[in-house]
Amino acid sequence: MNEFIEARVGLRWGEQKPSYDVVIIGGGGHGLATAYYLATRHGITNVAVVERGYIGSGNSGRNTTVIRANYGIPASVRFYQHSLDLYRTLEAETDRWIMHKEKGILWMHHTEMGIRTERARAHMNQAFGAQTTFVTPEEIKQIVPEVDLEGGGRYPVLGGSYHSSGATARHDRVVWAYAEGAMARGVDVLQRTTATGIRVEGGRVTGVETDQGYISTRTVLSATAGHTTTITDMVGLRMPIRTHPLQAMVTNHYRQTFGPIVASAELAFYVSQTPRGEMLMGAEWDRQPSYSYRSTSEFLRSCAAKAITILPFLSDLKILRQWTGVCDLSPDSSPIMGMTPVEGFLVSTGWGTWGFKAIPAGGEQMAELIATGRTPDLIAPFRLDRFARDRLLADAGSAGTQ
Ligand SMILES: Cc1cc2nc3c(=O)[nH]c(=O)nc-3n(C[C@H](O)[C@H](O)[C@H](O)COP(=O)(O)OP(=O)(O)OC[C@H]3O[C@@H](n4cnc5c(N)ncnc54)[C@H](O)[C@@H]3O)c2cc1C
Repeated sequence: MNEFIEARVGLRWGEQKPSYDVVIIGGGGHGLATAYYLATRHGITNVAVVERGYIGSGNSGRNTTVIRANYGIPASVRFYQHSLDLYRTLEAETDRWIMHKEKGILWMHHTEMGIRTERARAHMNQAFGAQTTFVTPEEIKQIVPEVDLEGGGRYPVLGGSYHSSGATARHDRVVWAYAEGAMARGVDVLQRTTATGIRVEGGRVTGVETDQGYISTRTVLSATAGHTTTITDMVGLRMPIRTHPLQAMVTNHYRQTFGPIVASAELAFYVSQTPRGEMLMGAEWDRQPSYSYRSTSEFLRSCAAKAITILPFLSDLKILRQWTGVCDLSPDSSPIMGMTPVEGFLVSTGWGTWGFKAIPAGGEQMAELIATGRTPDLIAPFRLDRFARDRLLADAGSAGTQ
């Protein structure tokens, strides 16, 4: 399917009603996917998605669209593999072209320690259902002939892993597909509507204040990424989340021969080619916690230096655009999904720099939890109370942006 189909996207905006069964704060991928699965899997359609800007204006419309399941701990491999599988069938399910393309991801290492870790990752991934194999420098050169195995003389490529099911999809099309599917079933998506307060009576949620008026409800989900703590503050809940900016950039067109997504673990750098031929790249998150969307020349310099170290042809290209999102980083680099001590108030957060790939599974599982009141097994390890129970899911090495 490659026709031009924007005209087919039929978004129908709702009017705010005084009361809903469920109010979702945040019209990004996670909020909209949860609304979609509530409607399609559970028949719950008296739902409002409250978005302060336009849908996808947060990180869901700013990311570099990498989808993969090559994580470092069993709970995460299972979860992300399920999400990867849902992405594979999302076009057929929604009848919308999200430009999903399986292209594989190559994750290179430049140190002996890194090589050891990557061998272990490949074994562990295979054991829990993700297609990852260890590859030698010679095999890397076959997969991506443009790679300089000498790494500019400073970062020689010693090996890596190849995750053949790694993929990309067009981020705003994913947002639109979920929004449209939810709207068609009666969900109200309320753009330009900011949640300004949450009413709690006797320890349970009773409603949401917005700049467009009050909404009565007994279930509220916060899916607000880097703005999570501004929402959890409204119910007096202290969250283990810090907000850090993450930047990205694209170049002009390169001949459309660049196959997989390529990443360097130690350089914390990754690149892929967009369907338009642009080279899309990113690096580590900004160390200073901030809500700033400002892009910096320092990022351009450091990201470009990393890029040409392993892929020298990139030095011939021009940088066209750069942009920034603000990310919700958890202490163990794993998501936080589920109920909270405030009855009726749920969170989907801790998506940091890696939550685009998780949108289908995150939405599906949160919808099941809201509909049934029971935490599905797949997301049980990611509950908020893991921090109090000393059951952290430390997986910073899988983020690729640390
Ligand atoms: C540069 C960059 C590159 C990335 N690359 C990747 C990648 O390659 N692969 C990957 O898996 N992940 C990636 N990510 C991470 C991924 O984009 C996010 O984890 C994911 O999009 C989070 O989705 P979300 O729906 O939780 O949040 P968002 O899409 O940010 O949506 C949250 C929404 O909440 C709204 N909101 C906030 N406060 C309020 C309020 N008070 N009232 C109403 N609405 C409110 C915001 O306007 C926003 O639209 C990247 C992120 C960035 C910034």
